[in-house]
Amino acid sequence: MAQVGFIGLGIMGGPMAANILKRGHGLTVFDVDPAAMARLVAEGARGASSPAEVARGSEFVVTMLPDAPDVERVSLGPDGIVSALPAGGVMIDMSTSAPETTRRIGAALAERGCFMVDCPVGKTAEHAVTGTLTLMAGGEAEVVARARPVLDCMGTDFFHCGGLGNGHAMKAANNLLATALVALNAEVLSAGMRAGLTLETMTSVMQKTMAWNNQLAVAFPLRPLKGDFEPGFMLRLAHKDCRIALEMIEGMGLVAPVGRAALAACQEGLDRGLGGKDVGVLLKIREDAAGVQVRAAP
Ligand code: NAD
Repeated sequence: MAQVGFIGLGIMGGPMAANILKRGHGLTVFDVDPAAMARLVAEGARGASSPAEVARGSEFVVTMLPDAPDVERVSLGPDGIVSALPAGGVMIDMSTSAPETTRRIGAALAERGCFMVDCPVGKTAEHAVTGTLTLMAGGEAEVVARARPVLDCMGTDFFHCGGLGNGHAMKAANNLLATALVALNAEVLSAGMRAGLTLETMTSVMQKTMAWNNQLAVAFPLRPLKGDFEPGFMLRLAHKDCRIALEMIEGMGLVAPVGRAALAACQEGLDRGLGGKDVGVLLKIREDAAGVQVRAAP
């Protein structure tokens, strides 16, 4: 069994860390939110007072933080992971972060004889609880193989996407598409309802055509179509993911006009103070404008 450290115990990281504990690994945790930390300590984890303290006694340190600057601060900042991880240790960043940030942290770890894997996750908060997330790993094959017993506690679909940073590149591409689908589903369902269609008619037809998508099949019935706009996956994180993907795409000199529109849809929600709501709140914005409510029969 491995000694694992875990930093960032929020909606996703909390249950992911709990699943590492359940498989019998030793676990040390840190979060700036004392309540999040107390939940894991109650389940048997050891609490630490800084990222460095987590790293000091760990073979693997997992991070599950909101954004790339958070990962950078926790790893390269004062009292950060890089300053304390023993030689041979592996940092596994499972946040949805930026490929460039990941490669910079990986280089700093390599200077100290340590390693890095990026392994962002796909699916939902519910899959974090059941340990059935989709894992998108980037890193050297031998390092990824070493990390597998830890990663396998949290997910069931595993993809090695290439070298360090490629997990985050994959996730950026994936989430721009996923967010654009939320925004377009919200527009189309609200407008369809306003035009006199029922939700049942729309979904029955779309299931037979190329319009069908997993947002409509899986995520919309779980929350927005029940009128539940609590996260789940926060709108501010969807906005961040679009931003990371567009930085990647436009950084290569390419354009992504539909991706830009998805970012603008998220920005509209942030401007209305809805950043802490589920990304499905984009449906509510379009519903309110159309004067309709799109709800599944209970
Ligand atoms: P969250 O805000 O619930 O959790 C983030 C946690 O990190 C919080 O507990 C916060 O207190 C902690 N934190 C922030 N800064 C810190 C610091 N400097 N040191 C220690 N702890 C710190 O967010 P989440 O929904 O768990 O998402 C985490 C990551 O997973 C994000 O990158 C998100 O994009 C990604 N993700 C989320 C989902 C989802 O459905 N929620 C799905 C896939 C991927």
